[in-house]
Amino acid sequence: MTNKILFIANWKMFGDLNSVKSIESVINLTKKKNYKNAKIIYCPPYTLLNSFVIKTRKTNLDVGAQNCHYEINTGPYTGSISSNMIKKLGVKYIIIGHSENRSDGETNDQINKKIHSAISNNLNVIFCIGENLFEKKNKKTNNVLKKQIDLGLRKIKKIDKIILAYEPVWSIGTGKVLTNKELTKQVVIIKKIIKKKFKNQEAKIIYGGSVNNQNINNLKQIKEINGFLIGGASQNSKKFIDIIRKTIN
Ligand code: PEP
Repeated sequence: MTNKILFIANWKMFGDLNSVKSIESVINLTKKKNYKNAKIIYCPPYTLLNSFVIKTRKTNLDVGAQNCHYEINTGPYTGSISSNMIKKLGVKYIIIGHSENRSDGETNDQINKKIHSAISNNLNVIFCIGENLFEKKNKKTNNVLKKQIDLGLRKIKKIDKIILAYEPVWSIGTGKVLTNKELTKQVVIIKKIIKKKFKNQEAKIIYGGSVNNQNINNLKQIKEINGFLIGGASQNSKKFIDIIRKTIN
């Protein structure tokens, strides 16, 4: 996997064929010399994966899916898509465990199966963890994160194909972000949990939750973070470029 600063765009359930063109300005930005250290990964809805793979061919951008079924290859699962189908499109990354899916009923056990299926198909996993407001208020954050990591990464031996995305649920789409001090503390705790569980292997950790072109100047100061998972602001190329520019320069 890459050592570059990660900018992962989660388009959620937004975008149609007309929006594929909008990423051209981002592709052009990455051709400039000082952007060699930025790794941009677009995660559009399933319907646009193929178009994004074609559009980003011969660029240094990559494409990721937003979820998959836990069955590795094929099966009688109406409306679902397997990691193998995603892999065959030329997609390299996959988001698993996003809180919007967890709140739809996705369990830690299903997340674990999805991660195993993605890794067996040689996909890089963006594994989302994070506490909700109730858990935060009741000082349960560390327990929640540990449980999500322990159950989500059960029987995973190597962490090299997994990026941990720390996304406090109460921060997603709300404009609310932890202070740098609080966020650093949380990321250090996650790193410790991973180091202990994976016998000193180090994980990449990115932050997600209301990252925008205003708060990025502040967030980019946090050395412990390897990049950002960006929802709303990534769907507007101008704002997304602004975030990348401000981080890199
Ligand atoms: C997300 O959905 O992963 C996310 C971080 O969203 P937003 O940036 O809109 O808070």
